[in-house]
Amino acid sequence: MAKLFSFRWQYTVRFGRFVNDMEGNGRGDSYIALAKFLLDSRADGSEYDQSHVPVQQQYEAVGHAVRAVYTYSGMSDVAAETADTDYQSAVMSLWNNMVNKKYYVTGGVGSGETSEGFGPNYSLRNNAYCESCSSCGLIFFQHKMNIAYHHAKYADLYEETMYNALLGSLDYEGKHFYYTNPLTAYSRRAAWHVCPCCVGNIPRTLLMVPTWTYVTGDDGIYVNMYIGSTINVERVVGTDIEMVQETDYPWKGAVTITVNPKQAKRFTVYVRVPDRKTSVLYTSEPALNNLKSLSVNGQAVPMKVDNGYIAITRDWKKGDKINLEIPMVIQQVTADDRLVDNRGRVAFRYGPMIYNVEKADNKDLNLAIGKNPFTLEWRPDLFGGIMTIKGTWADGSPLLAIPNYLRMNRAEAPQEGQQGRQGDRTPGSIIWIKK
Ligand SMILES: [Zn+2]
Repeated sequence: MAKLFSFRWQYTVRFGRFVNDMEGNGRGDSYIALAKFLLDSRADGSEYDQSHVPVQQQYEAVGHAVRAVYTYSGMSDVAAETADTDYQSAVMSLWNNMVNKKYYVTGGVGSGETSEGFGPNYSLRNNAYCESCSSCGLIFFQHKMNIAYHHAKYADLYEETMYNALLGSLDYEGKHFYYTNPLTAYSRRAAWHVCPCCVGNIPRTLLMVPTWTYVTGDDGIYVNMYIGSTINVERVVGTDIEMVQETDYPWKGAVTITVNPKQAKRFTVYVRVPDRKTSVLYTSEPALNNLKSLSVNGQAVPMKVDNGYIAITRDWKKGDKINLEIPMVIQQVTADDRLVDNRGRVAFRYGPMIYNVEKADNKDLNLAIGKNPFTLEWRPDLFGGIMTIKGTWADGSPLLAIPNYLRMNRAEAPQEGQQGRQGDRTPGSIIWIKK
């Protein structure tokens, strides 16, 4: 169901920030205080809407997943703006519990074992709920944690959710969408859902790409996403900066960023170094947590990573160019043994994207993977050009994996909501493959 009430906390803080930015003198503070009051007033309710105990005493992600991530998002805003230590400790505990005990490899949340909600720790069935709106809310939460703590791990996480859970909620044409995003898919996306909250939430979250791409700090600008774009970032150390990115990421790892400050100034550009280990639940081999190269105007920059960023402090002027290369190789992912559904199984990843195998390309998804090495192949004939992963199944037949966000576009399956009892049929696509 729609959870519009839960929006109020984060938007009240956002409005307070806006008033403070525009009018100064703390004139927005009363709105931030109102947001805290609204959150403080919640108690004596149920886990379903996170009102079972005062929010400052909540340490485990429970209840309706969309309501939860909106609430935590508002709490992280209050924690950042008021420096309230009870809020800070609750938010950090909730984040840690969700990311390290209740988080899917796609960046989705909410197993659906409670009413559209979270299950117990480590209980992550692949027939997940993972409502598209919970991906939107999780991106808001991670983004606010990034603003509060300026650590790149939060951007690693929201990038993962964007490319997999969120983008995967839309079909290739952008005309149909999923309400739920199970990792094992039986159905196609539908044109409408009886509860149409996701249909508006997905595009507005995708349309906020400029917000997810750059974050400002006291001494400079944080580059959080790599995406071909021209974005004007206002009010960074007293000037506006036009940031221009040229890249084919996530298909290739090379990125050129042209920094165009309105006035030449000394400030820091924090370049995010993607770390593909986003949760202790999943291990990707080989591990990737540094850049291949980094230079400014052709001069190499030392690659010292701090809080997930490499800081480049200098006098910046229009036309200065940062060149960087992100390592892009096939990674094999295994899950913590406590995730029983994934025992003896492996998933594939390339950059921020989790891959799947589907019936359209593979004869039997129940087979184990074969011994031949896996290779990358660019396929211009599929979906306007995508990077695929090729290998063999145990019986020697060819295995083809595609990015999970493109799943079920070619399937002859019923639409979501029309599929009857799940489990009656063989799945159309899976992420976790037998080893
Ligand atoms: Zn929704």
